[in-house]
Amino acid sequence: MELTGETLRVSDVLGPITTLGPGRRLGVWVQGCPLACAGCMSRHTWDPRGGRDVGVGQLAALWRQGLADGYDGLTVSGGEPLEQPRALAALLAAADRVRREAGRPDVDLLVYTGREDAELAASPQAAAALTHADAVITGRYRVGEPTRLVWRGSANQRLAPRTPLGHRRYGPHLTRLADRSELQVRVTADAVHLIGIPRPGELSALERDLAARGVTFQENSWRP
Ligand code: SF4
Repeated sequence: MELTGETLRVSDVLGPITTLGPGRRLGVWVQGCPLACAGCMSRHTWDPRGGRDVGVGQLAALWRQGLADGYDGLTVSGGEPLEQPRALAALLAAADRVRREAGRPDVDLLVYTGREDAELAASPQAAAALTHADAVITGRYRVGEPTRLVWRGSANQRLAPRTPLGHRRYGPHLTRLADRSELQVRVTADAVHLIGIPRPGELSALERDLAARGVTFQENSWRP
């Protein structure tokens, strides 16, 4: 099934990102999430009418360019990617094809979803959408369950390799703990993007530090 004519509703596309998966990666943040986890730092991605439509073919072209620039993987986050299962399937199928065409079968495809494992197991649509994902990180964000597990926001979230490449690449990280959080800052024309998973209190501390230096946000994505 090749569906590069599909469009995906996205919040952001940025690269290289370095804090959501191993190495330098293309990051695609899907727009729209009905799960409304308390403490979500990405509330701007909730409204499915927000963001913009981007063609899967266009995203595949960015991925191809990323591979030419030496990227190590693609991370799809959100928002909730499985709210758009057909477009997600098309994106991952295209990304898989591009990596093979580029002679880079070593680069991986990682998907974050707020869906729980049991919800995924009960959904043939989700299984189809994730066919080409090498690994998924599953589960709602639970603000009351902080964690030091790499690339996860709360202790309940599970990193699950799905392919031999996924096992090779993510196996060493399944229970790996990080001493500190890693946040990447990217400034674009209209926003400052904090990429990664902060620990409890870190965003408020950052706001206070910036305010002390005279920098305040007009709005931010982690407050109602
Ligand atoms: S943490 Fe993820 S799954 Fe939860 S509300 Fe935010 S975007 Fe949705």
